[in-house]
Amino acid sequence: MITLIALSLWLPITGQGAADLAIAPTTLALDWWYLAIHPLMYATSANTVWLMVIVPTVVLLLLPILPRRAVQKSVPVAEVSADNCSGCRRCLDDCPYAAISMIPHPNKKIGFELAVVNADFCAACGICAGSCPSSSPFRHDEALVTGIDMPQLPVDAIRRWLDHTLADNAATKKIVVFGCDQAMAVSTLASKNVATCSLICTGMLPPAFVEYALRRGAAGVILTGCRSGACAFRLGNQWTEERMKGTREPHLRSNVEARHVKIVWADRGDEANLQNAIAQFQCSLSEVSHEQTH
Ligand code: SF4
Ligand code: SF4
Repeated sequence: MITLIALSLWLPITGQGAADLAIAPTTLALDWWYLAIHPLMYATSANTVWLMVIVPTVVLLLLPILPRRAVQKSVPVAEVSADNCSGCRRCLDDCPYAAISMIPHPNKKIGFELAVVNADFCAACGICAGSCPSSSPFRHDEALVTGIDMPQLPVDAIRRWLDHTLADNAATKKIVVFGCDQAMAVSTLASKNVATCSLICTGMLPPAFVEYALRRGAAGVILTGCRSGACAFRLGNQWTEERMKGTREPHLRSNVEARHVKIVWADRGDEANLQNAIAQFQCSLSEVSHEQTH
């Protein structure tokens, strides 16, 4: 309202010029933006115009109080496991859509909180699963149940995939490429030496999985996804970079050698760039292993 008043004072809308009583006006310059309603009234009737004004106004006024239609999400949203949530608030900090809030934890321990997902706000990106400290693949539980997870791609499934992929890795040390469904299709890069896993968003990968892959015998790990600043889920690649650099929790532990990990952002259309980056990474890793052998 204040903006409109200020604008009207700064740039008043004038339908006609100043009155000149010496001239009898024969034509009127109509401001069609503001005054179109007048010709409309003559073309129809005053009652029709009133109806056209009142009905949309009433509908707009009623919108906030009309019952909401249940939104059918095509993909499942994040789910919290109360038994595995310590109330650390990392998912709350990292969720790009403010879909998480905290409530007192039902386990009655004083000070403990429980993350709760607002399904209406959740974009099902999985970034919260990447931020949860209980998403550690080094846990000994047979099934990895974490504090917050995506039903369509649980962190347990990523660990099982790594275990399976690297089980016969002794002869050919593979490079593991973690990509993202929103960017270029990493599956097209899979080969004898390259194992690929496409996540919902690269930001859903807990950094400990990089160390886990290397300890399981991967030659190196490449993280890829939407181009820098163009994350389909707003902050996935920014959080990934910060976690790998160690400036955001959970971070990649410092005992992981930086030369074994590479980030190459590659959107659809950047296939050649990523392929070149993988080839260069393979060369640099084979130089490292050559140096270590001698
Ligand atoms: S899946 Fe994404 S949008 Fe949904 S709660 Fe987790 S971080 Fe937030
Ligand atoms: S990051 Fe995990 S443990 Fe921390 S509040 Fe969220 S769900 Fe709970």
